[in-house]
Amino acid sequence: MLTLNDKTILITGASRGIGKGVALYLAKLGASIAFTYANSVEKANAFEAELNALGIKAKGYQSDAANFAASEILVDEVAKEFGKIDVLVNNAGITRDTLLMRMSEAQWDEVLDTNLKSAFNMTKAASKYMMKARSGSIINITSVVGITGNAGQANYAASKAGMIGFTKSIAKELGSRNIRCNAIAPGFIETEMTDALNEDVKAEWIKTIPLKRGGSTVDVANCVAFLSSELSAYITGQTINVCGGMVM
Ligand code: NAP
Repeated sequence: MLTLNDKTILITGASRGIGKGVALYLAKLGASIAFTYANSVEKANAFEAELNALGIKAKGYQSDAANFAASEILVDEVAKEFGKIDVLVNNAGITRDTLLMRMSEAQWDEVLDTNLKSAFNMTKAASKYMMKARSGSIINITSVVGITGNAGQANYAASKAGMIGFTKSIAKELGSRNIRCNAIAPGFIETEMTDALNEDVKAEWIKTIPLKRGGSTVDVANCVAFLSSELSAYITGQTINVCGGMVM
């Protein structure tokens, strides 16, 4: 069985949704977990206690991934507390969906800053420690929408497509330091983010999925565990679609 006993994993946006499911799964595989959130203080405190009860080291940090200076401070704090950062999972993300005609500059900026600039902020800060260690795995949670585009999500799709280009560039820049960088593109994963969609929209999405179901956070977590481990030692610069075959 895969174990991540010796890994320290920093994951952004893990107070709920995919990030929470991934963090819990990695903790059960033995990893030490540092996680961030934006506003959900109570949820994050409860989650930190849940993780520590598993007997691993875990700590939650309230930190805005869209803020460059805050990300640098956070990463330094995590490195000091945990001693190292083996894996960075850039997961924090938001949607502000609307058609281009109605999209405000603020809706564009908020999504690009939270989803894309955050990956730059966190990767720049964490790669410093990974370069010293000559080892690391960076995992960017993008979306199939970043590959296909989607009406009503120009801001979100642009941010997620940007993450894919960023992933490939970082893989090329940092490969010689034994730092890998890959992206995971989930399809329709059932979380609070997708709960906001109405039932008809959900049913239409599921019809287009060859495996005929929405994904779970565990489906994504399995891929994160693989990319965190030595099983993926020769894989970098790739985008893995975890989407039940929705996008091929
Ligand atoms: P979610 O349930 O809405 O959770 C978002 C998480 O990100 C929360 O923990 C939130 O913290 C945190 N967050 C938001 N803004 C942040 C910021 N500025 N700094 C730090 N943390 C921040 O979302 P999800 O559905 O799990 O999605 C997670 C990722 O997967 C996103 O990048 C999303 O684009 C991607 N994705 C999701 C799906 C899907 O079907 N759900 C499909 C493809 C890709 P608070 O609780 O404090 O707000």
